[in-house]
Amino acid sequence: MPVTAAITRDERALGVLLGGAVGDALGAGYEFQNRVSPDVVTMKPGVLTGRPAGQWSDDTDMTLGIALAAQRHRGLATSAALIDVAEEFLRWYRSHPPDIGMQTRAVLESCTSPEDLPHAAAQFQAQRPDAAGNGSLMRTAVVALPHYRDLATVATTARAISALTHPHHDAQDACALWTMAVACGLQGTATPEESMERALDQLPNRTLWRERLTAAVECEPHELAPNGWVVTALQAAWRSVHDASPTDPFVSGVCGAVALGDDTDTIAAIAGSLLGAHFGVASIPGRWIANLGGWPEHLTTGDLEALALDLAACED
Ligand SMILES: [Mg+2]
Repeated sequence: MPVTAAITRDERALGVLLGGAVGDALGAGYEFQNRVSPDVVTMKPGVLTGRPAGQWSDDTDMTLGIALAAQRHRGLATSAALIDVAEEFLRWYRSHPPDIGMQTRAVLESCTSPEDLPHAAAQFQAQRPDAAGNGSLMRTAVVALPHYRDLATVATTARAISALTHPHHDAQDACALWTMAVACGLQGTATPEESMERALDQLPNRTLWRERLTAAVECEPHELAPNGWVVTALQAAWRSVHDASPTDPFVSGVCGAVALGDDTDTIAAIAGSLLGAHFGVASIPGRWIANLGGWPEHLTTGDLEALALDLAACED
């Protein structure tokens, strides 16, 4: 991987939010379809969303709910901010989104108020102790933006926001690990590999996750699908980042993520955020940024850019 120290914090912040949204939009056209070669991946209308080519899906819808709450509270590390995130999730759910994960739907459906959401999620988990879908990892990278200098806060906050719908320890670990790696990228750590190593060092369960990451880069790619389980989702995203070409890391990384198949939008969204944190917004083709859209419907690419810069500025 090329060393990326010359890329500014703001270029990296834009890369996190736009990189995730672009990965999501790219994968939305291939969700649960036959596998394709990375060379043919292009923006297509969403398979499940029915949204036009270039628009994101539920992964970025929920990411933006977190981002808007973070902007209002100048961060996410307070109980008031967490309740506001829950309120955004419910507002989104009540907008009747065209696609929504099974666990997220069940938890939001059973919830009576924003304050009740962690309890509703815990009840769901008690009934299905092994449930650990990728629905919180898909939206977690944005948590790094307002707290990127402080890895402990990044991890704690990522865990709390995961637990609003996905309290399983694997889901919380995955969110903490990936979000800390994104934060390391925002700090200017030279490569995704070094960022992941720094993030692993902070994770209590690091031996298990180090084994999982090693397995991800050594296995046959077809073993990384299906990837609805949060662990396989993180492994698939990591494989895509690890295998990205040094000359065009963002494009090759997100197209590689889509080519792994199955939950393509989520894997490419997760990968896109870490690639964007390291290689910056300039690594993302302008044609992919131009037509971004989704929920909230009024938000434009320009609004996403302003949001990313404002969130990163919480650490100034
Ligand atoms: Mg999706």
